Amino acid sequence: MSPAPKILVTGGAGYIGSHTVLALNEAGYRVVVYDNLSSGHPEAVLPPAKLLAGDLGDSAKLDSLLAEEQFSAIIHFAASIVVPESISHPLHYYHNNTIKTTGLIQAALKHQIRHFIFSSTAAVYGSPEHLPVSENAPLNPINPYGRSKLMSEWILRDATQAYPYFRHVILRYFNVAGADPRGRIGQSTPEATHLIKAACRTVLGRKEKLEIFGTDYPTPDGTGIRDYIHVTDLAKAHVLALEHLAADSDSDIFNCGYGHGYSVREIIAAVQKISGLPLQTHTSPRRTGDPAQLVADPEKLRRTFNWKPQFDDIEKIVKSAYQWEKQRPY
Ligand code: UDP
Repeated sequence: MSPAPKILVTGGAGYIGSHTVLALNEAGYRVVVYDNLSSGHPEAVLPPAKLLAGDLGDSAKLDSLLAEEQFSAIIHFAASIVVPESISHPLHYYHNNTIKTTGLIQAALKHQIRHFIFSSTAAVYGSPEHLPVSENAPLNPINPYGRSKLMSEWILRDATQAYPYFRHVILRYFNVAGADPRGRIGQSTPEATHLIKAACRTVLGRKEKLEIFGTDYPTPDGTGIRDYIHVTDLAKAHVLALEHLAADSDSDIFNCGYGHGYSVREIIAAVQKISGLPLQTHTSPRRTGDPAQLVADPEKLRRTFNWKPQFDDIEKIVKSAYQWEKQRPY
């Protein structure tokens, strides 16, 4: 019997990366994580996956890793992901996201690694006019973060055109939330500003108040609507993407969400219900660049990968996030 395929996961010590590593472990893949630990957590990389601390900018280290191990695919998560920071430090985002992704693709080609899965984002669509958002909706990123990801997508697509043996899957994530339902890993960055995490930290008294950014959106309750996808369902989509490429399928792009959205107030109500605790809120103006609604059309993902989400239920998402936060010391 041939050994299980070996996968390189960049950024595998981060939130979505570590859940994907867990799913890969469980599916029997051999996994090596390459992460500079700038925001990732070594303890989030669960064995038997191995962790090598290193930066994608260290091309000599990356080159010797790829020369030593025979990877059949790369799943590339490592990136800077904070939108306001991308506006104040755009060059850092273009360097860390776009230029380092280019270097990784070059290294993959040099070592003849044939399959590449790229973490992209709904931010490539900006403020879409039509909902739900399909993969062929107009691309109009409205901040450097979204542009750094879209440029990376284009570079990847051009590389695939030029080197026919090289194929990719681009996954565009909508709002990722929740934690491993067995409580082994979760979102471990205390400063993370994501709504469900911030709301759970507020009911637990670790944050004074939850700010509601904008109550005058053209939505039924005036607050922003997002498509929240459980991180474990998203992790599974990566495993299916690997299988898709291993079956010689063409390169492709998929939106990752459930196809329905919840408002900020609905999320607040769910967090209060699950925790049984009151949540202090404070209404603030809209954040710059926040669209009113962002909801994925996940039909292509479901149909092509036969993806069957297990946690498409806002209470399950909030429950796993809340349980994870509760067991944290801060
Ligand atoms: N939001 C909020 N308070 C917070 C964090 C987020 O009202 O403390 C809102 C935000 O304006 C958006 C939604 O919650 O409508 C999801 O925001 P998040 O930052 O989680 O993800 P984004 O959609 O910005 O990627």
